[in-house]
Amino acid sequence: MEDSRTEEIRARVEADFSRIVDVLNKKIALQSISAKGITADHMRRSAEFVAEQLREVGVDAKVAQSRNPDGTPGAWEVIGSKIVDDNAPTVLLYAHHDVQPVPDPSAWNTDPFVGTEIGTRLYGRGSADDGGGIAIHSGALKALGDELKVNIKVFIEGEEEMGSPSFIPFIEDHRDEFDSDVIIVADSGNWSAEIPSLTTSLRGNTDIDVHVKALEHPVHSGQYGGPILDANTLAAMLISSMYDKNGDLAVPGIASEEPVGGLQRDMDEATVRADTGTVESYRFAGTGSLASRLWTKPSVTVIGFDAHPVKGSFNVISPETTFRLSLRTAPNQRPEEAQDALAKFMVEHAPFGAEVWVDKLDNGMGWAMDPNAEATKDAMDAMEEAFGVAPVNKGEGGSIPFIPELQRIFPKAQVLVTGPEDPKANAHSPNESISLPALKNNVITEALLLDKLAR
Ligand SMILES: [Zn+2]
Repeated sequence: MEDSRTEEIRARVEADFSRIVDVLNKKIALQSISAKGITADHMRRSAEFVAEQLREVGVDAKVAQSRNPDGTPGAWEVIGSKIVDDNAPTVLLYAHHDVQPVPDPSAWNTDPFVGTEIGTRLYGRGSADDGGGIAIHSGALKALGDELKVNIKVFIEGEEEMGSPSFIPFIEDHRDEFDSDVIIVADSGNWSAEIPSLTTSLRGNTDIDVHVKALEHPVHSGQYGGPILDANTLAAMLISSMYDKNGDLAVPGIASEEPVGGLQRDMDEATVRADTGTVESYRFAGTGSLASRLWTKPSVTVIGFDAHPVKGSFNVISPETTFRLSLRTAPNQRPEEAQDALAKFMVEHAPFGAEVWVDKLDNGMGWAMDPNAEATKDAMDAMEEAFGVAPVNKGEGGSIPFIPELQRIFPKAQVLVTGPEDPKANAHSPNESISLPALKNNVITEALLLDKLAR
């Protein structure tokens, strides 16, 4: 049986739900594609619309233009607050109002910019990512109304899909407006439309270029092949030396972690195989849970390799080559540390004494939730109350770069990553959609969570 507060909130959200869906439909129609110009008028209109929706639920919201690190004008951001009690905790609500482009509308079954309900889902670009996040915040604040017992700050970003170029200067300019005890980032999603999740971790990433040189100039493979290995073969030996016989990465100094907060449910191998089009004979590399291999253990990918194309190749020993490694790092390891370890390993494992040197490229920090924080427990309780089933938390193998940045700038804040998506949402792809029953439960979850955070 539902407890009476959950019942009360659910009734209010039900009564408000057509307004919430209407906000989402209007948002979809705005076509707020940041790739068409972060500073453009259509992005400003999108920001103005979101600010107006927030004012309707009691947030003192306004539009502000950020500036890029080089001082040029940046994105149209929405910031706002609803301060109820100077002694109460403060919660920052994050979402973004920009959406991914639609390169090929004919790949859609519906008009991407007309919100269209089919069955239990609402289709449209930005219906889930991240119009859904805006709808959740709006619905939760409306449901609580004057009963809100935490202070709210709101940041709805206008350039997330472009990698947030002016995010850091904007936050640094508005530190006081963002300062908070808990940050709710509603830009990820649930295990499924029926099973809620917190996103527990993100991997970091770092890149290096590795140069391998054996000769000063190319030579004939018939005349010198044998004692002299070509640079591509030496590079292949170097790459394979990173792995043990099980296919686990075995580079000293590169950290490996288990899923943050413990693994509640492993990823399903058949689903991963189907999603990725894995050929039948291929066996997955590495050991341990599939989830740990996808979310929290390090992985290396060769993303570039300078070699002669097959077409037009001839009998020559290639004297030198360069390849680029992209390393996904465990959530808590500093990427610089993993990068140093990888670079050192490459140089130390130069096959047959070939010259190996490394260029160190970009680093991005990962992120891990604090599984023992009060706010984490509150969020999991709220999810279970709203959805009627216990949450199954999950990690992300990729990165959401602004989350570690937020955590770095506000180290004391508890960051909770929630969101409107589920595996059928197709964010960034044709036929993006949001589950409406899950949206309703997400709104109820956030309202209940804000209740709990007041304690
Ligand atoms: Zn997003």
